[in-house]
Amino acid sequence: MKFDVITLFPEIIENYCSASVIGRAFKQEIVSVNTVNPRDFSTDKHKKVDDTPYGGGAGMVLMCQPFYDAYDSVKKLENCASIIFTPQGKPFNQEMGKNLSTKDQIISICGHYEGYDERIRQIPGLIEVSIGDFVLTGGELAALCVIDAVTRLIPGGIGKEESAEEDSFSEDLLEYPHYTRPNDFRGMKVPDVLLSGNHQEIAKWRKKQAILRTQAKRPDLFEKFMQREHTKEEKAILKELNLWI
Ligand code: SAM
Repeated sequence: MKFDVITLFPEIIENYCSASVIGRAFKQEIVSVNTVNPRDFSTDKHKKVDDTPYGGGAGMVLMCQPFYDAYDSVKKLENCASIIFTPQGKPFNQEMGKNLSTKDQIISICGHYEGYDERIRQIPGLIEVSIGDFVLTGGELAALCVIDAVTRLIPGGIGKEESAEEDSFSEDLLEYPHYTRPNDFRGMKVPDVLLSGNHQEIAKWRKKQAILRTQAKRPDLFEKFMQREHTKEEKAILKELNLWI
């Protein structure tokens, strides 16, 4: 997977992508990141990339020319998705991450200041994506959220593939609780089943906890889970919990 990020602040992207679990995926060349700075494409003698808004008002607006030229400079692979980050976009979620993980290239455009000249959004083929109903200073954190979440979903991206398979949202359920040593911490004990060595019972307990947690914490997701096809094991657990309709 190749990530190309069009940003006025490449160091934010580069620093994050060199650290921790994601940094390892980059070092192992399972994914690669390339940053493109629109400032390097500005034809203005002062390398300006923003200007005051027509009609007046606060803030500076990102100009078309440096952004169009920066985007055009990126060589596009056939199986590629192009994203423009904006609070007005489609909300990013695990399902979108999964779809994006099947691409060979993701090009991201990050805004800053007051946002884009409307015509930047009109670059053909762009998907507008938001990472939530709040306003960030710039699109870099949003792009990093997508890079991080998508890298986890690429086979080999985070080492053991099953770690991502059992993450929250992967089966329309939140993840079950985890425990590690010690088995008694300030009187809070690890559930006996996890110490039993009975893998079938452990798997059942985990699924049950995931269902109960989702019902308690995310009724919207629980509804989605209830509407999808269930495995034999899930049906049995739902019956045991009196949730089978
Ligand atoms: N004036 C804009 C508005 O009200 O929609 C907000 C501009 S924001 C300060 C600057 C840039 O940060 C945006 O162009 C976008 O790239 C990024 N950004 C801010 N919040 C975001 C979010 N929730 N999701 C994705 N990108 C966001």
